[in-house]
Amino acid sequence: MILNLKEFDSFPARKVLRGDQKDLDLEFDSIRSLNRIEFSLEIQKSGEEYFCQGEARASVQMTCARCLGEFDQDLVNSTDFIVCTREQALANRDVVDNEDYAYFQGQDLQADVSHIVRQTLITAVSMKPLCSEDCRGLCPQCGTNLNENSCKCRKTNIDQRWEGLKKLSG
Ligand SMILES: [Zn+2]
Ligand SMILES: [Zn+2]
Repeated sequence: MILNLKEFDSFPARKVLRGDQKDLDLEFDSIRSLNRIEFSLEIQKSGEEYFCQGEARASVQMTCARCLGEFDQDLVNSTDFIVCTREQALANRDVVDNEDYAYFQGQDLQADVSHIVRQTLITAVSMKPLCSEDCRGLCPQCGTNLNENSCKCRKTNIDQRWEGLKKLSG
């Protein structure tokens, strides 16, 4: 996803970039697909640097960590970053964290911001995504999806525990 700063006559400026999954090259275990990616930007210019506030949005198809079912979720997350040349970034600071920068070369004023969008969206993904808060998951013994069906495994376990207690008390 390319931000072309030549598009703007004056600053602050606003822009919405759109992209799709292949622009981001995003791989994440729980993400099956990523759609309708939008990156809304507010851009300020200061000297030769462009300070951007961005809000990334995407509709994602996720895999539930408990039942392995697919579900759709909207991701939204905000970020701040600076667009400039690499030389400029290094000239102004002792330490440059590339996650906070998108670079253009010389006077071309076109910066690839895909890595910023990718990082912003990944940060919004839960480590343990669930199709619903009360997802009942899969039975660890027979693999039945307990949201859709019940199975006899849990009951058998409880019965065995009672048997054990009976033996102890007997
Ligand atoms: Zn689930
Ligand atoms: Zn079971």
